[in-house]
Amino acid sequence: MGERFRHPPPPSNRMLRMPTAPLAILQQTFGYQGFRGLQQEIIEEIMRGGDALVLMPTGGGKSICYQIPAIARPGTGVVISPLIALMQDQVEALRQLGVKAAFLNSSLDIDHQKATERAFSKGELDLLYVAPERLNTERFLKILRNVRISLFAIDEAHCVSQWGHDFRSHYLELSLLHERFPEIPRLALTATADLKTREEIIQRLGLQKARVFLGSFDRPNICYRITPKKNARNQLLQFLKSEHPGDSGIVYCLSRRKVEETAAFLKAQGLTALPYHARLPAEDRQQNQRRFLREEGIIIVATIAFGMGIDKPNVRFVAHLDLPRSPEAYYQETGRAGRDGEAANAFMVYGLQDVVTLRQMVEASEAEEHHKRLERQRLDAMLGLCETTSCRRQVLLRYFDQAAPDHCANCDNCLSPPATWNGTEAARKALSCCYRTHQRFGAHHLIDILLGKSHERLERFGHQHLSTFGIGRDLGEKPWRSVFRQLITHGYLEVDQAQHGALKLTEACRQILRGEKELLLRWDDDPRQARSSGGPTRGAPRPFNPSEHPLWSALRQLRKTLADEQGVPPYIIFQDSVLMEMVERKPKTLGDFALLSGVGEKKLLRYGQPFVRVILEYEKS
Ligand code: ADP
Ligand code: ZN
Repeated sequence: MGERFRHPPPPSNRMLRMPTAPLAILQQTFGYQGFRGLQQEIIEEIMRGGDALVLMPTGGGKSICYQIPAIARPGTGVVISPLIALMQDQVEALRQLGVKAAFLNSSLDIDHQKATERAFSKGELDLLYVAPERLNTERFLKILRNVRISLFAIDEAHCVSQWGHDFRSHYLELSLLHERFPEIPRLALTATADLKTREEIIQRLGLQKARVFLGSFDRPNICYRITPKKNARNQLLQFLKSEHPGDSGIVYCLSRRKVEETAAFLKAQGLTALPYHARLPAEDRQQNQRRFLREEGIIIVATIAFGMGIDKPNVRFVAHLDLPRSPEAYYQETGRAGRDGEAANAFMVYGLQDVVTLRQMVEASEAEEHHKRLERQRLDAMLGLCETTSCRRQVLLRYFDQAAPDHCANCDNCLSPPATWNGTEAARKALSCCYRTHQRFGAHHLIDILLGKSHERLERFGHQHLSTFGIGRDLGEKPWRSVFRQLITHGYLEVDQAQHGALKLTEACRQILRGEKELLLRWDDDPRQARSSGGPTRGAPRPFNPSEHPLWSALRQLRKTLADEQGVPPYIIFQDSVLMEMVERKPKTLGDFALLSGVGEKKLLRYGQPFVRVILEYEKS
C-alpha cells in the first residue's frame, strides 16, 4: 500500500512547527482556506493589543477568533469557560490539531492539576482553559502574574447577566482581569444578541473601550417552522419519522414531567430518546449528555437546563413542544441546530394553553414590576413571532435590530404563505361573550357558551340565557380556540392572574367592537401544512442522501473506531462536513486529502492514510 501515498510525503512530526501569521495558522493548522465574516478583523484587533466584544451566533466561528491570536502572539492564551464538558472537548479538538492546549477545572485530579500548572508556568502552552471559580484564587493569580499571557478570552460572556438563566456568579469576578492585567488584550464572546445583555457585559467586565463586533445573527441553514398544536406528540412523531430518521436532535419541553413522558413515548415508538432535566440524578444527566455527544442518532428530550455549551455540530433538529418565553430563548435554543452549517430544522408546536400558562408564569413571578414588564414584552414578541403571517426569519432578526429581506425562502411562511381569514365577526362575538360574563371566565368556558354547550357549571351561572349563548355554532371548537389564542397574542384580551386566568378586555378591543377595525387571522387548519413538510430547502443542500451511501457508512465506521480508541466524540476526529466532502471528492492520495476543508497538517498526518485506504477500497469494489 505504501507507494500509493507518495505525493506529498507525509510531513514528519519534527517538521510540524506552528506558523505565526494568523492566515498561515488558519490554513496549516486548522485546514481552512480563508477567514469567515468578521474573524479577520477581530483577530487583527487582538493582534494589535486591543479588546473586543464579539457577538456572533452559534456556529458563527467564534473560537478561532481567540485561538488563532493565542497561538500567534507570544505567551499563553487564557480562556475562561463555564462548562467543564465543553472545555474538555475544546482542548481535545485543539490537541488533535497539534495545538498545545490544556484545561484546569475541578474534574482533574491533583497530580494532573499540578502538571498542568507547571506546564503553564514554564510557558509551554498555547492555550489554557480555566473555570471562572479558579481564576480568583490567590494561588492561581500568583501563577498568572509570573507567566506571559497573550490574551484573556471570556467565553459565554452573557453568563455575567443576572437576568439570564445562564447566570454564573463567578463571572462577576472577572472584572479583576481588567484591574490586575490592564495591558493584556481581552475578548468577550457570546451568542446572545439582545441589547440589554450586551450593555451588561460591557459594564460588568469593564469593556467600555473594547471594539464591538456584531456579526449577522442570521442562521440561513436553519428552517423555521411554527405550527398550531393539535396532538403535540403525534405531530412530533410525524416530524421525526418523515424528516429525521436516524438524526440527532433536541426536543424541548417546559416541565420535568413532560420531558419524562415525551422521552418514554418516543422510546415506545422505537426511537433512541433520553431525558434531561435538572432533577435527574447528576450521573444520569451526565451520562445522557455524554451519549448525546458521542453517539449518533440520539434524541435528547430536555428542559432548558440542557443547552449551554452543547457544542455538538451535527444536531439536525430542535423541536419545541412548549413555547419559549422570549425570542431570545427561542433563538438560543433553535440555534443549537446546524452548527456545522448543514441544513437543519427548527420545529415548534404551540397552542392556546401555552399562551395562558406563560402569561400566568410571568404575572406570578416574584420579580420587580420593571422586570415583569420586560418579560411581558418579550413574551408578546414571542407570540408575535408565532402568529406572524410574514417571514419568520425577518421577524426574528428585526427583534435583534438586524435588517433582513422580506422573503427568506427557508421558513414555513415563505415556503408556503399561510391562509388568513377575516375574523372580525368571530372576534366580536368572542369579545362580547367575555364582556357579558363580566370578564371572569377563561377561554374554555367562553367557548362552551359560544357553541351553546350547556352543562352544570355553565347553568349555575345562568349562562345558557345569555344573548351570546350558541351564537358561535358556525365555527367548531378548534377554530374558536385559535380565535381566542390570537385575540390574546394580538393584545385584545389579557389573562387575569388574580382570577385564575380569566380573560379581560383591553383598551385595544374597542375598535373591533365598534366595527372600526378589521381583524385578519391565521387559518390554523391549513392544508399547506401537509405540503410544507418536505424539509428544509436552503442552507448547504446535501448533495446526496448520506444515510444511503455505502462509502459514507464506511467512513463513519472508521471515524467511530478512531474516536473510541481515543475516548473522544467522533466529531473531534472529523466533522460530518469533512466526511461529506470525502464522499463527494473521493481523494485517493494524501495530496488530494490535504485539500479537504478541515484537514490541517496534523490531521493529514494522523488520519490521512486510514481514510484514503477506505476510499480506495470502496473504489475497487
Ligand atoms: P461558535 O463558537 O461561534 O459557535 P465555532 O467556533 O464552534 O462557532 O465554529 C463553528 C464551525 O465553523 C466549526 O465547525 C468551525 O470549525 C467552523 N469554522 C470556523 N471558522 C471557519 C473558517 N474560517 N472556515 C471554515 N470553517 C470554519
Ligand atoms: Zn422566511
